[in-house]
Amino acid sequence: MAATPYTTGLNRIAEGCYAWFEPPGSWGLANSGVVVAGDEVLIVDTQNDMPRARKLRDAVREVAGPREIRTVVNTHADGDHWFGNVFFEDARILSSAEAAAQMRELKRDPRKIRQSAENAAGPAMRDFLNWRADMFDYTGWRPVFPTDTFSAKESITVGGIQVELIPVGPAHTSGDVIVHVPERGVVFAGDIVFHRTTPMVWTGPLSNVVAACEMILSLEPTVVVSGHGSAAGRSGIRDLCDYLNLVHEHAAKRFAAGDTPLEALQTIDLGQFRLWAHNSRVYQAINAVYHELDPAREPVPYAEIMETVVAHDSY
Ligand SMILES: [Zn+2]
Repeated sequence: MAATPYTTGLNRIAEGCYAWFEPPGSWGLANSGVVVAGDEVLIVDTQNDMPRARKLRDAVREVAGPREIRTVVNTHADGDHWFGNVFFEDARILSSAEAAAQMRELKRDPRKIRQSAENAAGPAMRDFLNWRADMFDYTGWRPVFPTDTFSAKESITVGGIQVELIPVGPAHTSGDVIVHVPERGVVFAGDIVFHRTTPMVWTGPLSNVVAACEMILSLEPTVVVSGHGSAAGRSGIRDLCDYLNLVHEHAAKRFAAGDTPLEALQTIDLGQFRLWAHNSRVYQAINAVYHELDPAREPVPYAEIMETVVAHDSY
């Protein structure tokens, strides 16, 4: 099968299946998935802000005609995957129970980004949040939370086609879910898969992300829609596992040697993976490994991790 072009908007990836890409897949620029079957439509992840969600909805209406957008799945609680729910309020909105609980906390209310920038702990984070405030438009936004949640694997049908919702968290976040459409050979992986771009691992353990990737490979999909980046085949997912294993190995060694996470960052050799965009995100992953190895250890505060990560990122 020819590679799916990585272009903004809806791209057909299989019969009745589409990926909505947001190149270059940087911070907050997430992909969505669409399944059109029988007389209905399923959407996986609803984009980050008002203009993007509106564009997604309008493009779906164009390919789906009069079919109803009956179901939405949010793969996890990061805003770039559910803030657009406001455009799909008439649908049943599904997520894991953990993800829904995190959304309801609304820790990072997008209406307050500019304010958060003013209160940022460091200059790099201030610039980063101001960039985000310029990038995304939340005029008229309000939170629309999932209407239904689940904690174990859930099978639904969309226009007569079976769709599996498979919880795999904690991994990227505490409530990650992947969406498998067996009859079409498609997996919508959410942020379990960053394709040829450095993954963010908010929660970990990293081994759970690797396990989720291996599970995706075992489903033998023809195409995997990543959360950020282009559509992935098997080799792209194996590369991601190699990256995570490399980071884990290095961080565990430096942990055992008594180094701080910052020292582990300074000594890591990412090899070929240094060329992936946002390579400073490795600091978050290193911290996740330290937490995994000693949960009682005082963690580096989130604001400090992010200050280091974005200080070395050109977004
Ligand atoms: Zn994301």
